[in-house]
Amino acid sequence: MAASLSIHPAVDNGITSGDTNFAGGKLVCKCADDPVVVETKSNSAHNHLCGCTKCWKPQGALFAMVAVVPRENLTVTANADKLQVVDPSATIQRHACKVCGVHMFGRIENPNHPFYGLDFIHTELSPENGWAAPGFAAFVSSVIESGADPAQMPQIRARLRELGLEPYDCLSPELMDLIATHTAKAKQAVAA
Ligand SMILES: [Zn+2]
Ligand SMILES: [Zn+2]
Repeated sequence: MAASLSIHPAVDNGITSGDTNFAGGKLVCKCADDPVVVETKSNSAHNHLCGCTKCWKPQGALFAMVAVVPRENLTVTANADKLQVVDPSATIQRHACKVCGVHMFGRIENPNHPFYGLDFIHTELSPENGWAAPGFAAFVSSVIESGADPAQMPQIRARLRELGLEPYDCLSPELMDLIATHTAKAKQAVAA
């Protein structure tokens, strides 16, 4: 039953398009008291659904929704003391609220990483509208690792396509090209 599939609450009832004039806003954790607040000075980019097991996602959703902003455009403006890094050994340092568990931003500290300089955020945590809409679904097969029935995969991919979110089992071609370009340039730099 397609109706019973919860891909993600932000897309289950159709996708709301973003506002190109939106210039950033607040992200608030789920704590009723003293929530952690993060503010960005720009809209998000590369917003997408992610099926990996590391991204934070709401209860019952098959996918996380994750986007990026330049790290210099992101500031923690309230209750920063409640944040802790989920897994200090991970490439992406996911800063989560110790109380409610929500990931407020993910940051890459390795300057040689293709996505260095970009922070990962979940724009559903914002009370504001206008954030860029998700454009594709990444690491779709990985939802099996979080418990999805492998037999359900054709239905899940069909639902993603119905929503206009092309399913990929890694990142989108655009982002894979970006990574490969970075790797090629790094190799040339070593050879030169
Ligand atoms: Zn919290
Ligand atoms: Zn992910």
